[in-house]
Amino acid sequence: MIPVPFDYTRPSTVEEAVAALGSAEDAKLLAGGQSLLPVLRLRLAAPTVLIDLGAVPGLAGVRVDGDALVIGAMTTHAEVAASDLVREHAPLLAAAAATVGDRQVRHRGTLGGSLAHADPAADLPAVAAALDATYVVQGPAGRRSVPAADFAVDLFTTALDPDEILVEVRLPSTAGWAVHYEKFHRTAQSWAIVGVAAAVRRDNGGIGAARVALTNVGPVPHRARDVETALTGSPATPTAIAEACSRAATGTAPVDDLTASAEYRRELARVLTTRAVCRALGV
Ligand SMILES: Cc1cc2nc3c(=O)[nH]c(=O)nc-3n(C[C@H](O)[C@H](O)[C@H](O)COP(=O)(O)OP(=O)(O)OC[C@H]3O[C@@H](n4cnc5c(N)ncnc54)[C@H](O)[C@@H]3O)c2cc1C
Repeated sequence: MIPVPFDYTRPSTVEEAVAALGSAEDAKLLAGGQSLLPVLRLRLAAPTVLIDLGAVPGLAGVRVDGDALVIGAMTTHAEVAASDLVREHAPLLAAAAATVGDRQVRHRGTLGGSLAHADPAADLPAVAAALDATYVVQGPAGRRSVPAADFAVDLFTTALDPDEILVEVRLPSTAGWAVHYEKFHRTAQSWAIVGVAAAVRRDNGGIGAARVALTNVGPVPHRARDVETALTGSPATPTAIAEACSRAATGTAPVDDLTASAEYRRELARVLTTRAVCRALGV
């Protein structure tokens, strides 16, 4: 299908992009286009103007700032997966980014686009939730920070105001943590039926701390706090981990769809969470 006609603008600063967002009734930002262009072609969205972020300097790249790893919104999935800094300070994100789509999608799609799109089946929002990320957004009044737990509000809906841009994501370093991203998907498609992001810190042979978040078991990423509490202080054995992870579906709200029933997703939550934690710890 062919999108409805729209104007196109290519700002050269974040301020110009924010101004362009505020100047039109139904303006849309364009990052890698991997989610937006299909939506336009299906005419599920009909913006009057597209604001291409591709020429705004400083929106892409990875750096360390004090205790935080900072990733620009326009950094592609391929760059995230290959970055030595991300592999060192946020290895869970590097591992999950490598599982997104196919090579073409990873080379065009961006971290910021994935987080702002807020698709419940997308992998990276749950990873950002597990890692306690902070989202830095910019609007007409300047910048503000939004914790990952408050960013995804509902299906395809975030805490971004209509004239705000996600500019960067800040992650506390998890260097040295044991991590694994486990995802169950159809062979022909990489979209997660359910995914689990797990980061675990060993402590005296047991588990000292755990962070677990699930993809596609509700409208927004699900932080499995009950599992985290049960894992913390428990032995790093398959039996103890399985017992703690039996709570993985608590508080989830999965849907029935063409790929899986809600009941099947709840069972996947339990199985995949156990698997993700065991694989992270190598037990
Ligand atoms: C064939 C295929 C397979 C895929 N498989 C997977 C998969 O397995 N796992 C997965 O997680 N994803 C998958 N995706 C989606 C992919 O990750 C997209 O790259 C991502 O969802 C959107 O990123 P983008 O940069 O392309 O954003 P765009 O498509 O350009 O934008 C998406 C939305 O976010 C908004 N937006 C973009 N950037 C910003 C910003 N900085 N601030 C505020 N709003 C912004 C846009 O206005 C738009 O509404 C797949 C996509 C395709 C086409």
